[in-house]
Amino acid sequence: MAKLADRAMWVVGPLFIILAFVLIDMCVLAYYLVVFPYCHDWSLSEETSILGKLNMIFALLFTLYMVYCIHFHYYMAIKTHPGGMTKETMEATKAVDIETANNAQALLEYEEDAMYPKTCKKCHLPKPERAHHCSVCNACVLRFDHHCPWIHNCVGHFNHRYFVLFMTYMILSAIYFLVFGWEPFAASLDISGPEWPYYFPQPLMAFAYILSGCMGLALGGLCLWHYYLIITAQTTVEFYSNHYEKGIAKSQGEIFVNMYSFGYCENIRRFFNIGDKYPWYTVFYPVPIPPRGNGRQFEKCWEFYMLPESQQQGAILANQEIQDLENIKDL
Ligand SMILES: [Zn+2]
Ligand SMILES: [Zn+2]
Repeated sequence: MAKLADRAMWVVGPLFIILAFVLIDMCVLAYYLVVFPYCHDWSLSEETSILGKLNMIFALLFTLYMVYCIHFHYYMAIKTHPGGMTKETMEATKAVDIETANNAQALLEYEEDAMYPKTCKKCHLPKPERAHHCSVCNACVLRFDHHCPWIHNCVGHFNHRYFVLFMTYMILSAIYFLVFGWEPFAASLDISGPEWPYYFPQPLMAFAYILSGCMGLALGGLCLWHYYLIITAQTTVEFYSNHYEKGIAKSQGEIFVNMYSFGYCENIRRFFNIGDKYPWYTVFYPVPIPPRGNGRQFEKCWEFYMLPESQQQGAILANQEIQDLENIKDL
């Protein structure tokens, strides 16, 4: 039954993407054909003040930037392979490794490959730490978070950043649309009122506005959740196991250490790959930026290395065990 559901989710994946594009672009059209002409004087007549003209140009540039960012990050989340252990991706990541290799990283890889070898029970390929087998894609995914049918892809190491930025731009745009579209929305509900002067159908404007509210709320919840995971350096799968491990540690009077957490600010910096090569403002650039590291080995915090070796081993084994649990999908 679960297999059938996975297969169905895989088959309808492209339809979800088409539906998402149609709904997003319908709201974009509603903005440019109704809300924008409602808020600004398109004609640029003599009566429009300089401030009014500047305001219109700013609104136009800002909204075009937001629309571009939404489409860019959505496209990248769909097209970017989250990272896997197929022969091709292993070769590709190896090539990147050689380029960026340093002694510390090489040592880390050597130690971890030797100490904690693991093979996926389903695809029989080496399974690195934080990787997880996705039953929909039927492959192991690096730093797996969850399978998302809206991008017909897994959210993993190489596309998590695009996924989070896509949600962020969607929410900000939805808020912008809800604030500036309130009056045109109220007018669109008044069917018996004066004639509707826009090229965009009146009922569709009402639908686009309500849809923006619903999308903003749903994505807002999911996005907040992902920011919580980012600042605490966990994936959705790891959150559940860490929660469980935390309970056990507490009952035994010990302190639970998330080995991948370096503190809130550092975790955000690491997730968005800010600092070493990319300055902070690159977060606002709609250009392809890879995540930090190769997705197969991860640096650990010093608190982890302070633990007795048996506890270090226990933590890594616990992390590997949860990789075998049923994977998480969202709708
Ligand atoms: Zn696998
Ligand atoms: Zn998947």
